[in-house]
This record gives sequence, structure tokens and C-alpha cells, in this order.
Amino acid sequence: TAKQRGEAGFTRYVDGMGEPVLAHMQLGGELRRALDNDELRVVYQPIMRLEQQRMVGVEALVRWHHPVRGVVSPAEFIPAAERTGLIVPLGRFVLRETCRQAAAWLAEFGPDALEETGLNVSARQLHDPDFVSDVAAALADSGLPCERLILEVTESAVLRGQQVSRALYELDRMGIRLALDDFGTGESSLSLLRAFPASIVKLDKSFVDGIEIDDGQPAAAGARQAVARAVIQLAHALGLGTVAEGIENPEQVTVLRELGYTLGQGFHLAQPMTADGVSRLLAQQCAATVSRPPAGADRP
Ligand code: C2E
Ligand code: MG
Ligand code: MG
Ligand code: MG
Repeated sequence: TAKQRGEAGFTRYVDGMGEPVLAHMQLGGELRRALDNDELRVVYQPIMRLEQQRMVGVEALVRWHHPVRGVVSPAEFIPAAERTGLIVPLGRFVLRETCRQAAAWLAEFGPDALEETGLNVSARQLHDPDFVSDVAAALADSGLPCERLILEVTESAVLRGQQVSRALYELDRMGIRLALDDFGTGESSLSLLRAFPASIVKLDKSFVDGIEIDDGQPAAAGARQAVARAVIQLAHALGLGTVAEGIENPEQVTVLRELGYTLGQGFHLAQPMTADGVSRLLAQQCAATVSRPPAGADRP
């Protein structure tokens, strides 16, 4: 049961970490309650086409509305959720809620408005033997077509074992696309990228940070851009899509576009927002599309 897994998780943590255990045991207990009491919410960060700054997709990000502490960031509670095993029911909640919402957007705004919806999956979820059938059920129950869902996994999660690769291959066979998240920060290996059925690589924010800085030294400037350039060349060679993460200013957009990136995500483009916020954006974009003359209308 989840309870037994949770206790095992705590034990391992006690062994490994010592001191902050109490705080984390408390966090684990509170997370359990959060799940039962409906304190978790999903927000969505737009993924934008860099050229027109038009939203083409979203990434679902979980938030915890704690009754006392306010909004708690996933960076604080996802690690505890993974250690206690609560990530499995938490992840299932995010999966079901996100599929339901994506299907609602599809029904309201049509197939061209929002092409894809991504959500994060942790290693522990990929190890859960029920994960693939949970995904299939979430798609079936919501009516969301499989090609509209993207599952984001990190390189280190992918590297872990048979069960994980079996799950990834089954998801790929179902027509669900997989994105390698935070690409370049894990124990990246090129053979992994070739062996793993990924469709998209997400260039980690750490390779976008400072990419726009021209310190007057051509070699150094080149060095700042070297990883971003190498990643897009690799992606093109392997036929993978790319998304640049953590874009915080317009200069970064310019440099990334020069390097060949077409999609990006970041506070400069759009903050994570509620589902209603995304609906408003979609409504604006649909209105703009309708009022714009069709492409080529001004040409003979
Ligand atoms: P991630 O999947 O790499 O998600 C991107 C994170 O970067 C999000 O943080 C987002 O708010 C943040 N971000 C986006 N643009 C910018 C920017 O321009 N500047 C900066 N500084 N940050 C930016 P968030 O929502 O706090 O999530 C952190 C991480 O927690 C995620 O990283 C993901 O690994 C994990 N996470 C979030 N939601 C879930 C979930 O539902 N399940 C699982 N397993 N993990 C999740
Ligand atoms: Mg992600
Ligand atoms: Mg990421
Ligand atoms: Mg990240």
C-alpha cells in the first residue's frame, strides 16, 4: 500500500540524511492530507513559438496551496513526494487533471489552437507497474488524443532500469511523445539519446542563462552558446524537436532563434498561469487568427 511505501521511503531518508528528517516526515504527512483535501492545483506555462510569440503548447506544473504556508513550490515537495512514494498518487492527480483540461481546451478552441500539453513524470512513477495503464485510462476517460500529450522525463530517470525502459517503449508505441527535460544537466549520454524513444529535447535553463551576454571576446561568447548550439545540431541530426527553457529576456530569444530554436518557454514569454489564464490567451489568439487576412492573400 501507499502507507507501507511511504514508511519505507522515510526509513531510507533517515539513514541517508539525519537531521532534517522530522521536517520531512511532517511534510510527507501533510502531503498525504493535501491529496485528500484537494490542496493541489495544476498551473500551466505556455510554450511559445519564438518567431510570432504565439502559444503552441503548455507544460503542466503542480502547486500546493498549503492552508498555512501558502503556495509551496514543487521544488520543495516533489523530492519528499518521491521519497515517500506519494508521487504516485500525486502524479496520477496531475495526469488526470491535465488530460481533462487539455481535452476541454481542444473541445472549446479546436485542434489548431493548442497543439500539445506536457506534464512531468518522475523516475518513481516510471517504476510503478501501473503507470502505463494509468496514462491510457487518463486519455480514454478524458477523450484527449494520445498525440496531444507529451510526457517530460529527465535523463537520470530514463537511465534507471528495465521497468522504466519497458514503460517508455510502451508509451511510445501508444503514440505519446516523450521529452527529455532539463537536457544537458543529467548524466547525458549520446547513446542514451539514440536508444531512448524521445521526440523532444528541452534545453535546460542553465544553458540559456547568460547566452545573450557579449563580453567582447568572440571565443568566450561562443563558449556561452556552445551547448545550446551542440544540442540543436544533435536534435536536428536525430530528427528531434527542441524547446529552450528558462528564457528571461528578449536578447535570449534573438540568440536562440539565430541558433535555430523555434520553440521556447520562460518568464519573459509567459509565466505559469491558471487554466483560466490559458483559456483567455487561447481566446485572444483565436480572435487574432480570425481577423488576420489569410496568409498570401495580399499576393497574386
Ligand atoms: P521543469 O519541469 O524543468 O519545469 C520548469 C520550471 O522552471 C518550473 O518551475 C517553471 O516555473 C520554471 N521556469 C519557467 N520559466 C522560467 C524562467 O524564465 N526563469 C526561471 N527562473 N524559472 C522558470 P516549477 O513549477 O517550480 O517546477 C520545478 C520542477 O518541479 C519542474 O521543473 C519539475 O521537474 C518539477 N515538477 C513540477 N510539477 C511537477 C509534477 O506535476 N510532477 C513531477 N514529477 N514533477 C513536477
Ligand atoms: Mg518539465
Ligand atoms: Mg525543465
Ligand atoms: Mg528545469
